[in-house]
Amino acid sequence: TITSSKQAIELEDKYGAHNYHPLPVVLAKGEGVHVWDVEGKKYYDFLSAYSAVNQGHCHPKIVGAMNSQAETLTLTSRAFYNDMLGKYEKFASDYFKFDKLLPMNTGAEAVETAIKICRKWAYEKKGVKETDAQIIVCENNFHGRTTTIISFSNDEGARKNFGPYTPGFIKIPYDDTEALENALKQENVAGFLVEPIQGEAGVYTPADDFMKKAKQLCNDNNVLFIADEIQTGIARTGGLLAVCGNCSCENHCERQETYSRPDILILGKALSGGAYPVSAVLADDEIMNVIKPGQHGSTFGGNPVAAAVAMAALQVVQDENLIQNARTLGELFRSEMAKYIETSNIVSLVRGKGLLNAIVINDSEDSSTAWDMCMALKENGLLAKPTHGNIIRFAPPLVMTKEQLLDCVSIITETLKTF
Ligand code: PLP
Repeated sequence: TITSSKQAIELEDKYGAHNYHPLPVVLAKGEGVHVWDVEGKKYYDFLSAYSAVNQGHCHPKIVGAMNSQAETLTLTSRAFYNDMLGKYEKFASDYFKFDKLLPMNTGAEAVETAIKICRKWAYEKKGVKETDAQIIVCENNFHGRTTTIISFSNDEGARKNFGPYTPGFIKIPYDDTEALENALKQENVAGFLVEPIQGEAGVYTPADDFMKKAKQLCNDNNVLFIADEIQTGIARTGGLLAVCGNCSCENHCERQETYSRPDILILGKALSGGAYPVSAVLADDEIMNVIKPGQHGSTFGGNPVAAAVAMAALQVVQDENLIQNARTLGELFRSEMAKYIETSNIVSLVRGKGLLNAIVINDSEDSSTAWDMCMALKENGLLAKPTHGNIIRFAPPLVMTKEQLLDCVSIITETLKTF
């Protein structure tokens, strides 16, 4: 048994591949907005497993659904039907207002799925010559770690020595309508794949109308608008989806001026509340039906446990008003941080939407300041992680209360004052 954090870290270091550089804290328990380390120290979780644990750690309704399904039937593969998948597909399709859902497990798999659907649609519906389809993506994107996805990343760490790369992608600057307009003039464009807020890049939040304009331009050019809402979706940014713009209604709706309904919607992370790997691609029939039996799949995608967990996780979002809570607490967080920043030399700005926020530190990208601050925050009972040398993301579970949030703001500001 593990009796100390030091022992757990040494084990990972010796027997695990070194593909991550975690903050040196070893967590052993989680409940709601809190996690505890092996020594029993309690922390506020201000990362939520990169926005997967929106519903809070070990939510009893989600864990209950998972346990009960795990005792009944866990996996059939898609060689046979199971009695949970169709129920879940209907539930989630109604919830997000699309005709159909294609179930996968991880975010990267869902992005790959969306790329495949988009290419196939281009060849079979749009009439692009096979192998010529192009998908427009944005600089500084993060869509996952597979060979194809890193092919259109511009993070050297993610790409270097993993080539040869998959062709068929055009890169444009993020939040640049003119660049998109120009790229759309190129031949054979099939889709535009975009994060409504660039989470990994440092919570880059585009102009309020960028998504809306991008969607319109895609429409005008018969190009699929593909929203990667793996990190931003499911209440995180104070809307059901980040493409919902300034709407905070329970379900996104066409009436809202700022809503830009994607042609293909990609979800992951909070689709399971962090209890289980569940991802999905949603689209309407005319797009989704290009996929026929044998052309795409996954052994675990759409398994009964995933179906039960995802339904429970989405129900919790509704029952506990997480959209509204993320919106209200997000506004409070940014306004409190802005007050602090007025008096600070070290933090230059706070940005974000809902409870997906970041602070930018007045230091160079390759400095260790953000890391050092996260180490100090950890000592003071709050866990956050830098996204770059000078950016710290703040994304607590959405089940946080106002009192807890204010407590966290005071931990953060008191800690930052020591730098
Ligand atoms: N897309 C976005 C926007 C993400 O934030 C992430 C994960 O951070 C992914 C895709 C990849 O998801 P996964 O790590 O589950 O493959």
